[in-house]
Amino acid sequence: MISEPRPDHAVWLDGEFVPFSAATMQISDHHYGVGVFEGVRAYANAEGAVVFRLREHTERLLRSAHILRMGLPQRFDRDHLERVQLELLRRNRLRDAYLRPFVFYSGIAGLAPGTRDLRVRVAVLALEWTAERAGDAEGIAPPMTLRTSSFVRQHPNSVLAKAKANGNYMNGILAREEARECGADDALLLDQDGYVTETSGANVFVVANGALYTPPLTSALAGITRDSVIVLAASFGMSVSERRMTRDELYIADEVFITGTAVEIRPVRSLDGRAIGSAARGPVTERLQRAYADHVRGREVCRHGWLTSV
Ligand code: PMP
Repeated sequence: MISEPRPDHAVWLDGEFVPFSAATMQISDHHYGVGVFEGVRAYANAEGAVVFRLREHTERLLRSAHILRMGLPQRFDRDHLERVQLELLRRNRLRDAYLRPFVFYSGIAGLAPGTRDLRVRVAVLALEWTAERAGDAEGIAPPMTLRTSSFVRQHPNSVLAKAKANGNYMNGILAREEARECGADDALLLDQDGYVTETSGANVFVVANGALYTPPLTSALAGITRDSVIVLAASFGMSVSERRMTRDELYIADEVFITGTAVEIRPVRSLDGRAIGSAARGPVTERLQRAYADHVRGREVCRHGWLTSV
């Protein structure tokens, strides 16, 4: 769980490290959801802390900005933004932490911001991460429930799913609130053809007959945890493939789990009130949860180059 920033915590804004209380925006910075961001985790380990897949997150931020035609000042390139994120963790003496780099426009953006000479601002917040539930700190979050949403996942040509863009999140927020009001932990969003895409903020995996399946990325974010799970599962010798799936394939799956930087890997015990498998953490999910936790915390030697020391 992300903690609130403290007023004296250092943040980074447009090239300067400043206290959180001094990093202000203008009341006119209102942009109809045009902006991009990332969510990155740092993990405490025996030597201090490591950031998980810093490069991939920073590159996705820059790709998201490119898709929205938000030109960052040239000096804020990938290497610079990586250094800033590491430096913020050091300055705030954070170990288990959440980094939130984001890019936004200064001033009233209007409806065609990409065609105007607006100032693009870049900021990074580094916040303490505290475990929400028992088991979370060990990477073995308990099973959760999902409900198919009445909100359809946005069409790939309405907003662009390859961008982790602010406005894209309205769809997921509506869906999650509806699911919570119906007593589920999160929503499962289907695309306009009725196929499974993702939850409000995580990718979906299905285990059936010993193989692993995940929906294609047409309408889902290209999750970095999703990619990590694909690599880990392949290293166990499991067959992993992308394919379109209907909601009832999840009802009859052996296991379902979701993946994301915040949730890591979390088993799903039911969808729409139908128990999935044994309605408990399945063996494949458990193996992946443990492998992921061992990687991010450095208990397993990571051969994939996923960790950056703080
Ligand atoms: N889908 C959505 C909509 C998300 O917001 C996230 C979280 N960033 C994910 C999937 C998972 O992505 P990642 O594993 O990179 O955190």
